[in-house]
Amino acid sequence: MRRTHTCGELKPSDIGSKVCLEGWVRFSRDHGGVAFIDLADRYGVTQVVFDPEDTPIGINVSALSNTLKTFTRESVISVNGIVRKRIAGTEDDRSSTGRVEVLITSAELLNKSAVPPFEIGDQKEGALPNEDIRLEYRYMDLRRTEMIHAIEFRSRFLHLARQYFESQNFLEIETPILARGTPEGARDYIVPSRINSGKFYALPQSPQLYKQMLMIAGLDRYYQIAKCFRDEDSRKDRQPEFTQLDIEMSFVDESDIQSYVENMLAYVWKGLYNRDLQTPFPRISYIEAMEKYGSDKPDLRYELQLENLTNIFKETNYEILRKIVADGGIVVGINVSHNILKEKIGRNDIDRYINLAKKFGLGGLTWARVVNGELESNIVKYFTSKNKIDIKNIMDAKNGDLIFLMAGPKRRTLEGAGLMRKQLATDLDLIPKNTFQFHWLVDCPMFEIDPISGKKDAFHHPFVLPYDNFKKGACFDILLNGNELGSGSMRINKPEIQIDVFHQIGLSDEEIEKNFGWFVKALGYGAPPHGGVAIGIDRIISILLNKETIRDTIAFPKNKKAQSLVDKSPSRIDSERLEELQLISMADDDADLPAIEEYTDEQLQG
Ligand code: ASP
Repeated sequence: MRRTHTCGELKPSDIGSKVCLEGWVRFSRDHGGVAFIDLADRYGVTQVVFDPEDTPIGINVSALSNTLKTFTRESVISVNGIVRKRIAGTEDDRSSTGRVEVLITSAELLNKSAVPPFEIGDQKEGALPNEDIRLEYRYMDLRRTEMIHAIEFRSRFLHLARQYFESQNFLEIETPILARGTPEGARDYIVPSRINSGKFYALPQSPQLYKQMLMIAGLDRYYQIAKCFRDEDSRKDRQPEFTQLDIEMSFVDESDIQSYVENMLAYVWKGLYNRDLQTPFPRISYIEAMEKYGSDKPDLRYELQLENLTNIFKETNYEILRKIVADGGIVVGINVSHNILKEKIGRNDIDRYINLAKKFGLGGLTWARVVNGELESNIVKYFTSKNKIDIKNIMDAKNGDLIFLMAGPKRRTLEGAGLMRKQLATDLDLIPKNTFQFHWLVDCPMFEIDPISGKKDAFHHPFVLPYDNFKKGACFDILLNGNELGSGSMRINKPEIQIDVFHQIGLSDEEIEKNFGWFVKALGYGAPPHGGVAIGIDRIISILLNKETIRDTIAFPKNKKAQSLVDKSPSRIDSERLEELQLISMADDDADLPAIEEYTDEQLQG
């Protein structure tokens, strides 16, 4: 008989039943001949007991005892026994099985475990080993309750999302992994083709162009839980491969696409939490987000807005600010009101913020306090009295408030001030826990200038439909608690506009033809008005579960160096294989390899 129940199932109504449980030996302890084992599986933990006094007559107690001695931690075992009530005072109400235990009548070691690299049982905070060890032994790490919960939650989320899209007539369509590169702003991972020597596939950075072709095909509503691959330098919380919930629709506009996403999330919410998610989500324009919050993904769970003080400092005796303004820069202020300050930031802490300002890319940080209705600090002496009155008015400054001023080139200063805002919110404990605030970022630009290279590039990607004479793109982002969950847009559906946009980002006619000629051609065959969106699954799950890193929501993630430690990849490959792929001959540069054409068809098929 194999298991009759899982390890999370038995309850007082099962008392007296004969059962078989199978699972892993999480803990065992011997109390003077009476042995207890916490038997665990995905569903829970059940206490199983070897009790010689109570073992039914006819069972070879010493043989059973000997078998039990072979049960080392994390070995997988099978146990037959009788469910009984736990002795009063030893119940564990934290566990659903905590009122019962199984008296062992026979047991078998199914497979022994090597000594576990770390403790699998519920961890006290900080007791986990470093992450690389967890990733090397991921199959052990995934036995932990916390990981099981994350994997189950993710599965449930995806299941509900699928249910919603199926109910709305969407088709789940897989798109290729071996593909032509799709530009999403990163490098492609490339895969050599043995059969087409010297040629490469790219792994898709997203299914973008395939999903657009599905709309050209008339398939009308598409979704996919899609793997995307981006070869980027190590950045916090990025994975070389990640999962998007990818959507595309025809004959819709931006607000239709947003409604479908809202309704899908509301459906998932109800299924996960049995609560209503408030829709529609508020919209914030790109300009408002940048100017008020210094970020295109502002966290709107707290106030602490930036104020533009540039005009005030056109005339001032404070030379530094006057010069910045004269050179076209800006001055922004944040008022840390006395209501939230509550003495949490004192004079001695200010140096820390001055240092942080540099880290945030700001030229510097100036501050002032309001004392008896007056601004006070080491620089106010350079302010004209009008400067002081204007600052107080615009910043709505009251006694006890602390004002930070930041100045410099526009974008850098807004972004730096945005980081300062976030830092202050963290330090002042302003970020509410367990609240989920969705927003749409709308009215985005079509293009942006890379501050380092000065190159004009698409704000999202070059397939976004431009409007307002190319000043704006019909694109949007979905934000959750200050994180970008994903983005979407209406797409260009006319070849001539697509070519125009490619030209504007600096592609020559030859480059367009070589890289995208096939796609421009497809747009010429009656491409309908269409648009779509993609939502980062790893990120939304990690935010909903309050995880520090998206890796804790992925069964087999890469580490920060893009390595998969459990199977030791990436790895070197044999020189024979390299030669076969005609990449480089590591064995012998002069080796005389057969050209790929010389293989027989049979060999190629094999
Ligand atoms: N392909 C886009 C991305 O990966 C999303 C979209 O525009 O649908 O960000």
